[in-house]
Amino acid sequence: MKTEFSLAQLADPDIAEADKILRACVHCGFCTATCPTYVLLGDELDSPRGRIYLIKEMLEKDKPPTQEVVKHIDRCLSCLACMTTCPSGVNYMHLVDQARVRIEQHYTRPLPERALRAMLALVLPRPGLFRAGMILARLARPFTALLPEPETASASPTLWRRLRAMLALAPGRLPAKGPAAGSVFPAQGDRRGRVALLQGCAQQVLAPRINQAAINLLTRHGIEVVLVKDEQCCGALTHHLGQDGDALARARGNIAVWQSEAERGGLDAILVTASGCGTVIKDYGFMLREDPDFAGPAARISALAKDITEYLAGIDLQPGQQQHRDIVVAYHSACSLQHGQKITALPKELLSKNGFVVKDVPESHLCCGSAGTYNILQPDIANKLRDRKVANIAMVKPDMIAAGNIGCMVQIAGGTSVPVVHTVELLDWATGGRRPGPN
Ligand code: SF4
Ligand code: SF4
Repeated sequence: MKTEFSLAQLADPDIAEADKILRACVHCGFCTATCPTYVLLGDELDSPRGRIYLIKEMLEKDKPPTQEVVKHIDRCLSCLACMTTCPSGVNYMHLVDQARVRIEQHYTRPLPERALRAMLALVLPRPGLFRAGMILARLARPFTALLPEPETASASPTLWRRLRAMLALAPGRLPAKGPAAGSVFPAQGDRRGRVALLQGCAQQVLAPRINQAAINLLTRHGIEVVLVKDEQCCGALTHHLGQDGDALARARGNIAVWQSEAERGGLDAILVTASGCGTVIKDYGFMLREDPDFAGPAARISALAKDITEYLAGIDLQPGQQQHRDIVVAYHSACSLQHGQKITALPKELLSKNGFVVKDVPESHLCCGSAGTYNILQPDIANKLRDRKVANIAMVKPDMIAAGNIGCMVQIAGGTSVPVVHTVELLDWATGGRRPGPN
């Protein structure tokens, strides 16, 4: 794609990067076939190619984004299916991240929307506030019927529609808190390794059983696990809202505490059980590439970050009792894992090797609609994607559904009665841990 940035514009490293990405696009449109919003809405401007044109124009003209541009960028899930499909290696992720930052900095959203986004950015990354918010949401749920309900689903939802969606996502009950930050779980037997386990923010409130399963599995196999003190949200939530100041501050904070833990006790890896977080931590090196103090440490931390399945693939997992044999598992491939981190076959291989009957889900490349805060901000598109995902999963008649990302787990569980569990919970069970179930 031909671009027309001035030399002055190209002196900005972000614009130079955008220019490189835009020039790689050859307009072929292959990406449209796998883009969930294009598949649902059929509008070229809701396809990757259409959005790339909109972003190009916005950046080249260097003017505040228009309402039309904002509408179509907001509808993008950042699922990155387009990056898997693109034959030219267009880095859509870095382009749309930049577009979201520009929108956040130069576009004034209506006041109710600004308030909702500010509330999400404040509450979601802070487990204490998030827990309190979930309790309040549960208490408020009976009053949902009093909120005005739109007659039809819309790709431009109202504030009320978004509030309804947020209340609907609150769980009926919250589990007890998991282990505290700063805890160290010694290896059983001879120590073969030492890792940090990302504590996550929403996940530690909604499903502490996931990291507990990871800790049990790892320590049983001789790996010491540390929950690093003063670690915070990885920044993914605010990064996807375009609030880069907040996201980068969180990245720097985490890099500092992980680096000092690595220097003090040694770390073989930083393990992540929420693939949405893993994708962003693996991108810290890029996000901080222009920061003279953090560029090097960020690249080292990104190299240390691993999805839990990547690390487990290097361990000889020991079988436990075999009650799980013949359990049919539908494996839902989270977008952040399959498109963001290119981890596709590995989790399925681990599950099969450890005794589960693993089934691929039809249309597995399509997002379930979770996408961070997307199911709150764009509930009607998100619900359509969830229903489509659940119908595809039902076709393989599973006993359980496995996924590697808490957002997908909550989203899919909202549309099915089949138990939805994390891949690591199944692997823990297969190697002597407890059967996955409610917290
Ligand atoms: S990230 Fe997903 S929703 Fe956005 S343009 Fe690419 S395929 Fe479409
Ligand atoms: S597939 Fe890649 S090169 Fe083709 S239009 Fe989409 S982004 Fe551009």
